[in-house]
Amino acid sequence: MTDTQPTHTSGSPSLENLLHETRSFPPSAEFAAQANAQPALYDDAKADRLEFWAEQARDLVSWHTPFTETLDWSGAPVARWFADGRLNAAYNAVDRHVEAGLGDRVALHFEGEPGDTRTVTYADLQREVSRAANALAALGVTAGDRVVIYLPMLVESVVAMLACARIGAPHSVVFGGFSADALRSRIADAQASLVITADGGYRRGAASALKPAVDEALAPREGEPETTVRHVLVVQRTDQEVAWTEGRDLWWHEALESADTFHEPVWVEAEHPLFILYTSGTTGKPKGILHTTGGYLTQAAYTHKNVFDLKPETDVYWCTADIGWVTGHSYVVYGPLLNGATQVIYEGTPDTPHRGRWWELVQKYNVSILYTAPTAIRTCMKWGEDIPARFDLSSLRVLGSVGEPINPEAWMWYRRVIGGDEAPIVDTWWQTETGAIMISPLPGVTATKPGSAQVPLPGIVAEVVDDEAHAVPNGGGGYLVLSEPWPSMLRGIWGDLERYRDTYWARFEGLYFAGDGAKKDEDGDIWLLGRVDDVMNVSGHRLSTTEIESALVSHDIVAEAAVVGASDETTGQAVVAFVILRGEHAHRASDAESAAQVQEELRAHVAKEIGPIAKPRKILVVAELPKTRSGKIMRRLLRDVAENRAVGDATTLADSSVMELIAAGLAAPS
Ligand code: ATP
Ligand code: MG
Repeated sequence: MTDTQPTHTSGSPSLENLLHETRSFPPSAEFAAQANAQPALYDDAKADRLEFWAEQARDLVSWHTPFTETLDWSGAPVARWFADGRLNAAYNAVDRHVEAGLGDRVALHFEGEPGDTRTVTYADLQREVSRAANALAALGVTAGDRVVIYLPMLVESVVAMLACARIGAPHSVVFGGFSADALRSRIADAQASLVITADGGYRRGAASALKPAVDEALAPREGEPETTVRHVLVVQRTDQEVAWTEGRDLWWHEALESADTFHEPVWVEAEHPLFILYTSGTTGKPKGILHTTGGYLTQAAYTHKNVFDLKPETDVYWCTADIGWVTGHSYVVYGPLLNGATQVIYEGTPDTPHRGRWWELVQKYNVSILYTAPTAIRTCMKWGEDIPARFDLSSLRVLGSVGEPINPEAWMWYRRVIGGDEAPIVDTWWQTETGAIMISPLPGVTATKPGSAQVPLPGIVAEVVDDEAHAVPNGGGGYLVLSEPWPSMLRGIWGDLERYRDTYWARFEGLYFAGDGAKKDEDGDIWLLGRVDDVMNVSGHRLSTTEIESALVSHDIVAEAAVVGASDETTGQAVVAFVILRGEHAHRASDAESAAQVQEELRAHVAKEIGPIAKPRKILVVAELPKTRSGKIMRRLLRDVAENRAVGDATTLADSSVMELIAAGLAAPS
């Protein structure tokens, strides 16, 4: 791909731009003609950005009291959007569709891991959400009270979130895979009055318990204040035995049975808090991100409609994210439901009972829009393309990616094997903090490039800047910033305005600092290069983890790669790589000799793709990588291992044994 060696750019500490990509995929004329988003959308937004957002807010959201003011930025960096308007999120997601005569449309095709299914129409959803809202109100939950939701992926999870929104009680969803301690600290941080959980859920073919973690999280502890939680609502999913605290615990189904199916939504101000959600913790301790109602809903609906080209009458949409992540909030619950979509939700893992389960579901429900994460795509690459080949995936017409930079080769695989070489891929960059997609191709407009999120959406202003906050020229690398407030931006970190300012607004005056490294290519398209915290400095060159990982993944035998900079006496830092081989090549690292050969081959490959400076000092073949529960690689833990330090905060790690295995491998001679 590249034949030039990177030049040393002393004086400019910004990231170097190493990997080159020339492939480009314009939308077909047919797709472009029918697309929701046409090129004029960019012009409209440019002509009058605030008026553009006001129009989106009026078109895509129903207001109980219309707003007259679009943006109040006088309290920067805390924005107020559409502040004098009143609305209700659950009404927008559900009731208005029923009122429009769409009550019979399927909202959710639920698929349990054991194979049980449930079809929920918008009318069903309205009844359930109203009942749940009445049940919450009967338990004394009122507008402003925080409710923690700790559930597997169930219909009830969606209902619970919407019921909270209906009464104006901000929800804080805690991923069902988190420990009692993680749950406890999040409950305490939010001072929640109610927890909604389940007896358990199905995962990897077995019923796993959830309620005991809640009991443990609420148990009194020496030296800690008494819990603020008064009630626990328990969804019955697995029928397993549960411990019961009389007076505190109630069954969800019993509470709903006795509740009325009519509930008048609580009309809240646009800036009323809708939810708190903690970040993944990829780079450090999770932050409780606060989102409010009107602006958040506007951008969630706008992006969902335009980025995925949703046609609610005909599409079947599936976002594989858990509701415990922001993607599950914006692109399972609020965005799709506001747009009246029909969607699939799936409880379990992609390999239960077999590795083709996702593709079987695509075939079964005729899924036309699929939104998933690079980690899932790379896992499927590892398992082999013969698995998806067994299913009919021809219904797919748009594919989305989120969560990490997608390596160009993973992108190409996604397009070819899953998308039949036709479906446009939208690589969507955003964060818990941004609330909704910020940078992404528009599928009917943008000629896509493997590995690049490319362009800010109409209405969004993003830039790549150097240390002095100057925009870098095309071809340059630096830091991704957002230069103008946007409707779904966070309104702060729960209970800690100072940390909000410090984390996002202190680095560059007046600019939101996302924490991600990025570059602009010769066309001015944006490429995400990984976390600034993860950037390596090798002999004065600032190298991106993403580019070296992508070079490794572009070798036939590699499915996944994670790269870190470990301190090195001579070069400052040295590149250390951890790779997972594709299934059919796994045997190639079965003994020390062949592992050494693989290492040499991959080092040479990186040198050829990027340049000798990026050549890893050490490449370790591993079976798994440490990932957060949302599937992001936790490079900071690998760096701890590579530098022989005690491993840092790993509470959001999906599988803690992974780190021990890797440490053992690193200690062994290679
Ligand atoms: P923490 O902030 O606690 O370390 P986190 O950043 O992993 O956690 P999220 O908000 O879930 O928590 O993740 C947002 C980050 O994910 C972005 O800042 C970016 O690094 C990465 N990301 C998301 N989508 C993309 C994408 N399409 N391309 C590149 N990176 C992406
Ligand atoms: Mg982050």
